Amino acid sequence: MNKKEVKKLREELTAVMGNGSIETDPDILETYSRDETADAVFMPDILVRAENSEEVSTVLRICNEMGVPVVPRGAGSGVTGGALPVHGGLVLSLEKMNRILEIDTENMVAVVEPGVITGELQKAVLQEGLLYPPDPASLDICSIGGNVAENAGGPRAVKYGTTKEYILGLEFVTPDGTIMNTGGKIVKDVTGYNLAGIIIGSEGTLAVVTKIYLKLIPAPSVTKDLLVPFDSVDDAINAVYRILTARITPATLEFMEEDGIKLVAKFHGGKIPFPEAGAHLLIQINGESEESVYHSLERIWEVIDVDPEKIFAAESEMQRERLWKARRAIREAIHEEDPCFLAEDCVVPRSRIPDFIRDLKEYFNSVNLKSIMFGHAGDGNVHIDILKGDREYKQWKGMQPDIKKEVYTRAIQYGGTITGEHGVGMLRKDYLTIKLSQEEIELMKRIKDAFDPKGILNPGKIFSDE
Ligand SMILES: Cc1cc2nc3c(=O)[nH]c(=O)nc-3n(C[C@H](O)[C@H](O)[C@H](O)COP(=O)(O)OP(=O)(O)OC[C@H]3O[C@@H](n4cnc5c(N)ncnc54)[C@H](O)[C@@H]3O)c2cc1C
Repeated sequence: MNKKEVKKLREELTAVMGNGSIETDPDILETYSRDETADAVFMPDILVRAENSEEVSTVLRICNEMGVPVVPRGAGSGVTGGALPVHGGLVLSLEKMNRILEIDTENMVAVVEPGVITGELQKAVLQEGLLYPPDPASLDICSIGGNVAENAGGPRAVKYGTTKEYILGLEFVTPDGTIMNTGGKIVKDVTGYNLAGIIIGSEGTLAVVTKIYLKLIPAPSVTKDLLVPFDSVDDAINAVYRILTARITPATLEFMEEDGIKLVAKFHGGKIPFPEAGAHLLIQINGESEESVYHSLERIWEVIDVDPEKIFAAESEMQRERLWKARRAIREAIHEEDPCFLAEDCVVPRSRIPDFIRDLKEYFNSVNLKSIMFGHAGDGNVHIDILKGDREYKQWKGMQPDIKKEVYTRAIQYGGTITGEHGVGMLRKDYLTIKLSQEEIELMKRIKDAFDPKGILNPGKIFSDE
């Protein structure tokens, strides 16, 4: 946008909503030019930090009339550039809409604004003896609105599913400024199309979510965490298979392969259990009573065939925190090793994880690339971080399209897909055809057109620019 257009937009917005939420100061805009995506900076022309649904509606209506791109933004923890204004325009931050409106213990529903930080909601509902299960590793910094837009998952997905399983209703604003509702504090609803199902995971390209009705469940009273070392990824995934077919459903089944373990050990000064292992499984079991949890633990010991002496069981809250801190610090550890890395999150059927990882490692070795793999063994979601190493930056950039194609093609070959939780955003839009047919992409584009005929909402995401 040129200066004249920004001035005009600012005047139009100020006339309806006052000046308080609007920013054009470059120092402030700079903060909103990045998220957690490596190597991506796009300056917004203008920023609005909306305080309520009416302000969201005003911004969208005016921008739609003026043809200005609007990019919704939660907490900016996304790793595929979803909240970045790649075509300039207005960034619409929902960070000030951060109130937990209600925790309805009778219906076990939380009603929240989109800017609520996920971890804070979890703590608040836990005080009522309730659990909001989706637990992205970024839960201390990401917002529920961003989780809805990305359909965020996390370690507990193996037992509890992802964000979409907990959305009972939404208030959302369409790009022309209309405020709409779907669902609510009800468990069932087949009144017409499932609009929430289309909006969840749409990466801020269809509507701006302004209120969310979340399903809560009773919090388990007992939780135990184990770290189990294995000689290889094959052995670890074999154990996953045996646990799940023994009809035990742990709350988490996280794996990390050798290179990841070494890196995390280095990051923590060697102070992690089993730093020499070929693979780790981080298993969490929860339940209603000590008895039922111990029964599951005994069954796990029976089926996984690992010497119980070699299993690290967290005995206290502090030890549990330490185990999970080490797991959550993997991204930081990678960043410290090499700030330039590609972060992929493919999914394959869980039984194919060992073949997928072996095949990828062979490919990475053949082109002299260092990689770290870890993820959610219980649901087949493999995080693949590929490091730049001591290559020239230009060479590294030039290699990326080939690396991505190789990784995605293998994920599809093993029966999977190119992203399990981080989304397409601006990073994977040119690779959609590896997974989707032209007809499927066209159908998605027609849905986009129905919501956003002028294409103002988060342009340059999901679909390749034509
Ligand atoms: C260290 C680290 C660990 C992570 N671990 C996980 C993980 O385990 N699982 C996982 O799924 N992700 C993970 N992520 C990625 C990220 O945290 C999630 O994608 C998260 O859901 C983004 O939330 P946010 O509030 O930060 O959204 P943002 O980054 O601000 O935005 C993300 C997308 O949502 C859209 N959006 C945001 N709010 C709204 C709204 N109210 N209405 C419509 N659209 C909106 C934006 O336009 C953008 O497209 C991790 C990230 C980091 C940095």
